[in-house]
Amino acid sequence: MPRCPACFVPMTDVVKGGVHVKTCSQCFGEWMSRTHLMHLVRGPAELDGAATGAAAVGLKELAALVHESDTTQALTCPECHTVLSIDRPHPMIPVNLQFCRKCSGAWLDVGKLPLVRKLYQALLHTTDPRLTALRDRLAQAELGAEREKEKLESLQTMRQILRHGTGGTGALEQMISMLLGER
Ligand SMILES: [Zn+2]
Ligand SMILES: [Zn+2]
Repeated sequence: MPRCPACFVPMTDVVKGGVHVKTCSQCFGEWMSRTHLMHLVRGPAELDGAATGAAAVGLKELAALVHESDTTQALTCPECHTVLSIDRPHPMIPVNLQFCRKCSGAWLDVGKLPLVRKLYQALLHTTDPRLTALRDRLAQAELGAEREKEKLESLQTMRQILRHGTGGTGALEQMISMLLGER
């Protein structure tokens, strides 16, 4: 069984939303394939298991938890021992995860999966005009031939909207305020 990239204890295999996820009993971080991650992010609300109580926890509480758990230095892949890359799961979701470019695994510190899920769902349903405009642009970019250029422009717009740049909790808190209709 692969070891936790943060605490190096062997991880446990669990089935979550129909897919295999490896969890660490010490830090409660999660390791899964990128495909499984996206499946869980897009999956139904029942996935926020009763065990963690995540279903009842709001965006701000999850953001606070993630602020505490966030691993800012690049870890090593538990499967193939490549250094992981820190990146967002989606251009509009300002939460840093760690990805293996070699085996396509994804590492999530505790609280990140429910936070990313909630942000993804909130972004799908938001009526904030700044966010809907950006969401539509990204969707167009996914379809269009100029995909990469469009994506880059969308990200620049995102940076202008979120004053604090690309990462960090400042951008995350600002995004949550927009989603909650606070500004
Ligand atoms: Zn751990
Ligand atoms: Zn790997």
